[in-house]
Amino acid sequence: MRENMKMTELLAPAGNLEKLKIAVHYGADAVYFGGREFSLRAQAGNFSEAEMKEAVQFSHLHGTKAYVTINIFAHNRDMKKIPEYVKWLSEIGVDAFIISDPGIFRTARAIAPDIPVHVSTQANTTNLESALFWKNAGAGRVNLARELSLEEIRDIARSCQMEVEVFVHGALCISYSGRCMLSLYMTGRDANQGACAHPCRYRYALQEEKRPGIYFPVEEGDRGVYIFNSRDLCLINRLPELVEAGVSSLKIEGRMKGLFYVAGVVRAYRAALDWLMEYMDSEERQDAKLPVVPERFMEELKLLGSRGYTENFLDGPPGREDMLYQGGNAQQQFSPAAVVVEAGDRPLLRVGHILRPGDRLEYMERGLGVTPFEVLEIRDREGRKVRQALGGDIVTVTTEPEIQWEEWAVIRRRQT
Ligand code: SF4
Repeated sequence: MRENMKMTELLAPAGNLEKLKIAVHYGADAVYFGGREFSLRAQAGNFSEAEMKEAVQFSHLHGTKAYVTINIFAHNRDMKKIPEYVKWLSEIGVDAFIISDPGIFRTARAIAPDIPVHVSTQANTTNLESALFWKNAGAGRVNLARELSLEEIRDIARSCQMEVEVFVHGALCISYSGRCMLSLYMTGRDANQGACAHPCRYRYALQEEKRPGIYFPVEEGDRGVYIFNSRDLCLINRLPELVEAGVSSLKIEGRMKGLFYVAGVVRAYRAALDWLMEYMDSEERQDAKLPVVPERFMEELKLLGSRGYTENFLDGPPGREDMLYQGGNAQQQFSPAAVVVEAGDRPLLRVGHILRPGDRLEYMERGLGVTPFEVLEIRDREGRKVRQALGGDIVTVTTEPEIQWEEWAVIRRRQT
């Protein structure tokens, strides 16, 4: 297991350049993002060419790998542009392509054979034979479907002789990873083009044909009917078992989530993995026994807001307790107050919401630590004292106690 530990990668979502830098700051070993074409998550603010170049350079500067998604289901018209795109990505130095379409896969292997291909979750790999199929085709890694148990993950990871990646955290789709037409049918937004509007989580009622506008409540819970409203995935308490099973990469979902989610989830999983690594080196380690993950990591994740957590299929098919039939979310207890966009002599903060002298905030350190502080004074970029700063403003602040700002750290505010 100690050897597996060294190789276990924490892979974080990057919906835009700022979130990428935040994920890198909080300890992601690798980040994944998409370009404006050929990538799912159409709403995720995908990267322009200039941003992709910067993303790769920034990641490499900090020892982080940069993976690019090319995971649409391509039509012939798309395929015409793919070779040039793959070539360009290989020239800017991306570390892997994330692909699900066999045609794009074949093209990527032919045009850029030195760049590993990771098989996307969209390929729904659920068994060893499928994994071996991809390995024989030249894949370097396979992302296993979220519908697998720990035993199945272990069997595949130990026998497929390539890297295995699993999702450990984030929203769950009750369809096989987006293979669902509900969103397109109801809202015109296609889940298979990365634009799902999550109608499976809407609240439903019954309407009789001749009585338009009259809705009969269907009493599944006293708040209505939520047909497929899954809790969010969270496997932080199962990291020792996943590492022991031979999983190479632990992937966090959420290119469409906010920067506070990225900061909070990445730093909690980083801290948990570091704790596990330390435990493996420590004297309290008992060889045969896997450690129990201390509560503090899960407690931190609970502060972020979620639909409640589930371990999904890890111990077998999920039951009623893994769904939220009665609606309702676990409330986010903090909101992002600011991001440090420049450190150095005159640190600059980009304000998330309104910021005023007297505000009491928390600086999110790397690891699980926070430093509470009070804002004493705010100055704009020109050095003029201001009574308040609004969302998007770039400012400098004086605080008590003084903070050693680090670039791309996040400052949070407790919700009242
Ligand atoms: S509507 Fe729900 S089940 Fe369908 S793709 Fe979107 S998240 Fe998945």
